[in-house]
Amino acid sequence: MKAAVWEGPNDLQIKNVPRPVPSENEVLIETKAVGICGTDLEIFRGRFKHIDPPLIIGHEGGGIVREIGRGVSRIKNGDRVIAECILYCGNCDYCKKGDFGLCDDNKVIGVFGAPGEYAEYFTVPEKNCHILSEKIPWPEACMVDSLADTVHGFAKVNMPLYSTVAVFGPGPGGLFFCALAKMRGASKVYLVGTRDNRLRLGPQYGADLTINIKNDSAVEIIKADTGGRGVDVVIEAAGSEKASKNGMSILKKGGTLQIYGVHGTETPVDMEMIQLYEFNVVGSAGSNYATAVKLIENGAVNVKELISHKFRLEDLPRAFSSGLIEKREDNYMKGVVLF
Ligand SMILES: [Zn+2]
Ligand SMILES: [Zn+2]
Repeated sequence: MKAAVWEGPNDLQIKNVPRPVPSENEVLIETKAVGICGTDLEIFRGRFKHIDPPLIIGHEGGGIVREIGRGVSRIKNGDRVIAECILYCGNCDYCKKGDFGLCDDNKVIGVFGAPGEYAEYFTVPEKNCHILSEKIPWPEACMVDSLADTVHGFAKVNMPLYSTVAVFGPGPGGLFFCALAKMRGASKVYLVGTRDNRLRLGPQYGADLTINIKNDSAVEIIKADTGGRGVDVVIEAAGSEKASKNGMSILKKGGTLQIYGVHGTETPVDMEMIQLYEFNVVGSAGSNYATAVKLIENGAVNVKELISHKFRLEDLPRAFSSGLIEKREDNYMKGVVLF
């Protein structure tokens, strides 16, 4: 079968590799679509020191079940499924509590410890499969992973009813956070970013006010709009130091800051503000696929419009090396690979 194999920094190759065979409790999936994630690009560039080539990358995909391993009972041949990418052990203290993202012995498909999904077929444990109805077409199914991460991240936020919420970073994650905040009864949602083409989508996802920090000061506007008090919840979904700093400076005393964006390890944090103002700082490492599937299936969150680019497997090496995704050229928002 054909697969996109990462052979080292800046080296992704389409190769012929053996088709995997499902082990006990696993299923073989004929890949239909895989979402392109920022993590793929980080791996491609060689920015993760602990990931070794060769590796088939890709982890936001799904397809049709074509073979079932011994012990598989719930999933059947021919099912349309999306695969949860964290391979958790199921036995450690965290898994027993349902905190699969914190599993002591986890692996991530296409990231570390297991081959990925930019391939014509991949295998995955039955317990990682979520059945999709015909209502969700393949390109949109790829958005389940992103939405599942934000659903989990949002669950970590203690948000009282009628809260004010500021979301930094209008990528798919940030837009989903706006939608979830509104769903949970936010009184006002601010969306802060630097790209007008992304901010423009804000109102559709529930943002009441969008602020482009290239033209305006988010801190001044939000402070003025909240009578100087700031917002109850800040979601940092930009992965930028500036966003975290600005976010903390408009967080109400006792408010909650969700660190969702991926930061470098060196981001400085004002500990005194956390102490003095009793900020709750929460992180997010898991996902909730079951809820994400329901939200998309019922049309509660629109994901279709976020898909800006569609690729074939063969296009991937160029898409990664050209800067299209990295520099978000051509109004790139979210890409999917279709098979
Ligand atoms: Zn991802
Ligand atoms: Zn575990």
